[in-house]
Amino acid sequence: MDDHLTTDFNEACFLVDLSNVVRDRRLGEPGARSLRRLRLLVDAAKELARDPDVKLYLVADRSLRHGGRREFSDLGDIRQLGSWVRRGLVEELPDADDRLLELCELTGIPVITGDRFRGARGERPWLQGNTDDFLEPLPGPGGTVRLAPVDMGLAHASAISMKLEEDVLKKQGLLDTHRRPRFDVVSRNWRCEERRCTLYDTTKGSAALLPRMRGTAPTCEMHGGVLVDDGPRTATVQLKLLLDGELKARFTLENGTTVPVGRAPGPGGIALHGLVPHGRTTGLSRVHLTLRISDGLVHVLDRSSYGTTRLRSTAGRGGPGRWRGLGAAEERFGGGDELLLVEGVVLARSGRRFPTELAQEWQRRRPLPPGAAEVTRMH
Ligand SMILES: [Zn+2]
Repeated sequence: MDDHLTTDFNEACFLVDLSNVVRDRRLGEPGARSLRRLRLLVDAAKELARDPDVKLYLVADRSLRHGGRREFSDLGDIRQLGSWVRRGLVEELPDADDRLLELCELTGIPVITGDRFRGARGERPWLQGNTDDFLEPLPGPGGTVRLAPVDMGLAHASAISMKLEEDVLKKQGLLDTHRRPRFDVVSRNWRCEERRCTLYDTTKGSAALLPRMRGTAPTCEMHGGVLVDDGPRTATVQLKLLLDGELKARFTLENGTTVPVGRAPGPGGIALHGLVPHGRTTGLSRVHLTLRISDGLVHVLDRSSYGTTRLRSTAGRGGPGRWRGLGAAEERFGGGDELLLVEGVVLARSGRRFPTELAQEWQRRRPLPPGAAEVTRMH
């Protein structure tokens, strides 16, 4: 179980609203609060990401451990939670909701939760009508859990305006609209001026947190001070090689590189010879395609002898889209996209997006038209 937890957003595949999951009795017994529901959720996440080593970033309300201890039917669950918090595997906060939304906004990693965050929509207008960023755990067949994409719908105007008024008061009339994620924050390393603080140190293993934003400044969760910019963070793209849906290998590509992929693509390339069984390499060209990563965008060029590479998106609400052939020119290889090289041999990008890609998506999501907030279309 511990192997599936991380607070490093570079390796996290999903953010988890831990309190919400642990308390969701629809996901099975026993008791009002149970970590068993998280274990079932890990299985669902493995399946959805098609990755037996899938990593989750857990955020919990402090009250999960400290309030209502008697609601846990297994006291071992409380000890387990405490151990994760001490080892930095769960981010524990007074208000997990706000942090989850902040992390989703900063990183583009999808959130697993049953919550619709109706009260947060004034401050975070991107929640309205959102169909990309939330997955709900639901009971599956035979006592399992499955993850379903959520249409956040449009929350009722009165809920939004109430929250807006609160916020305006809170911020003394200075409503920060949070309309755009802070790429300047995600793409840098940060350091706390407290000498012993290693919370944000990316050189100290996998527990480097993303800073909390207070107003416009990244601050240390523990010491409260403003963090110091510690240079650019290397942007990487994660790729998975799937054979008949099974994970065979994982690759990391850095920004500013061009990487040929194929049976035997030569130096600097990803050689599939040896990874794909001999009998399955028919139709696989020596250089089958090229991936070019620049300015935080990934491009793919089909270089196969017969132009057989196909692309599909898996990030849509209806599940994986249709495979389609690539043209003669470079195309975008986006977060959640998959490339089919030959039958059963797939290169998949994790759903996590580059900051630049997020920026483009946010530009597409126009602000709500006037009056749209008055529509009631809540599921
Ligand atoms: Zn600190």
